[in-house]
Amino acid sequence: MNNASVGPSDVRVRAISEDGTVRAVAAVTSTLAEEARRRQQSAPTATAALGRALTASALLAAALKGDQKVTVRILGDGPLGAILVDGSADGDVRGYVQNPSVDLPLNDRRKLDVASAVGKGTIHITRDLGLRHPYEASAPLVSGEIGEDLTYYLARSEQIRSVVSLGVLVDRDESVLAAGGFVLQVMPGASSEVISALEAQAAALQSVTTLIRSGASAHDVLSSAFGNLSWRALDERPIQFACTCSLERVSGVLQGLGCEELQTLYEEQGQAEVTCRFCGERYVLDAPALRALMQQVCTGEAPSPIN
Ligand code: ZN
Repeated sequence: MNNASVGPSDVRVRAISEDGTVRAVAAVTSTLAEEARRRQQSAPTATAALGRALTASALLAAALKGDQKVTVRILGDGPLGAILVDGSADGDVRGYVQNPSVDLPLNDRRKLDVASAVGKGTIHITRDLGLRHPYEASAPLVSGEIGEDLTYYLARSEQIRSVVSLGVLVDRDESVLAAGGFVLQVMPGASSEVISALEAQAAALQSVTTLIRSGASAHDVLSSAFGNLSWRALDERPIQFACTCSLERVSGVLQGLGCEELQTLYEEQGQAEVTCRFCGERYVLDAPALRALMQQVCTGEAPSPIN
């Protein structure tokens, strides 16, 4: 992996205001966004969209515990197609964009035009908390910029007033120069002084990528977001790109095709080749392995498919 343009390892920090009415989480995700770009071979506009979404899932996952998981799906009608990212409590994050080669001209603010690339549609957030059913909600995309869409989602679907900032700065050589963001959530009971202080601070904020590019840590991003409000950090954790794919899972997916399709695959291609959409890892079941799997499925000896 080319680490030349990115800083030290990515970190996520959770924090709370001294009076307990404002919760926040900030993350530096430059390495994560660059690794996703490299794995997807994405063009700058797609890199920015995917990096923002990965940052969003890293931030949302900060509220999880154990092996709980959050999945963010951004389903817009723009050229990027779907963006799918997931994050876990332990800091693992992965994601992909359907059409990573999408690159649009800069918008009229001379920024990567993520909004046009995403288009109109919906944002879906699923939290798998280990209960019988995952918690799932959605909201319309309000701009396609992802940060604004998440703010609106939190207000509408989870009744949480928040300030969200997500950013990815792409270098001339198309690698990620800086990425990160924060989510600041105002709890019920926050005083009007606290709310107006946060609103004033939000209006005066430097962009999160400007901060991170100049060397800011996740703590520094929190200091900037809280402004004059006193706060303290609760915990800190490294975050990283990590995928859960494996040859076993790939075999499980192939089993799910059924006897006839596996026979066709075996006869026409002799082997099976599957590339993980999240991480780009390529798995090959050679002829003997595919034949064994096919015989297992066709004679009804197959265990139920792993998802
Ligand atoms: Zn994978």
